[in-house]
Amino acid sequence: MSWLKRWRRARVLRQTEIDPHLWRTIAARYPFVRALSAPELEQLRELVIVFLHEKAVHGAGGMAIRDEVRLAIAVQACMLILNLGPDYYRGWVEVIVYPDEFVAEYDYVDEDGVAHHIEQPMTGESWERGPVVISWADVQEAGSGAGYNVVMHEFAHKLDMLNGPPNGYPPLHAGMERSRWSSAFTAAYEDFCDKVDDGADIAIDEYAAESPAEFFAVMSEAFFEAPATVHAQYPEVYEQLRQFYRQDPAAREAGLESGRQTLATVP
Ligand SMILES: [Zn+2]
Repeated sequence: MSWLKRWRRARVLRQTEIDPHLWRTIAARYPFVRALSAPELEQLRELVIVFLHEKAVHGAGGMAIRDEVRLAIAVQACMLILNLGPDYYRGWVEVIVYPDEFVAEYDYVDEDGVAHHIEQPMTGESWERGPVVISWADVQEAGSGAGYNVVMHEFAHKLDMLNGPPNGYPPLHAGMERSRWSSAFTAAYEDFCDKVDDGADIAIDEYAAESPAEFFAVMSEAFFEAPATVHAQYPEVYEQLRQFYRQDPAAREAGLESGRQTLATVP
């Protein structure tokens, strides 16, 4: 990172405050934030300030952008980059928020040369080098423990797109092995698709079977929302995600639960 960028960010941190009441309200909303240590929570707060300074959050379809909306999106987006840093969201600036599902329109020509016009309802969409588009109604379903998190899903696509079109293969850190990532994700993806075909009851969003890119995005949101599930079902994928995100949400969640038990047993 250039000294100028670092200096600008330091200045933004010095000069910007988040309303403490709103911060506490939003932070308390999500189990994955409640599980953070005090230094991690402060790191998240600083990332959120930089994020909101460097990204523009715009409403569409009549959506009014209140501070609560900006903060809720920023908190969830920044959880992914807590130990990666703001430059992982480089190269684009806009987040567009619709009040509810929105319709994406696109054209394509099939194998027989027939042109199709598709209008598809969407809860979120990420454009390469372009905006992240999300439905606020779906943002509000996050934090339930069901593994569903549209903000994390779309921002995971952004990380995947750092090295080209989304393919479930984000840029790995030094020390991570491409072959390990590939074998973990390929085996898990094949197993997942088989289970979906068999109609098996899986605790992870079936949309993951759509493509390796969607599998990475869905596993990423589940990694933070329902880490124990990912850890139990696909331990090797969990390990690769732990190394990539440089976070261990299952260990954090376990710590939180044992902490709660301790508190609960205090007379
Ligand atoms: Zn997706």
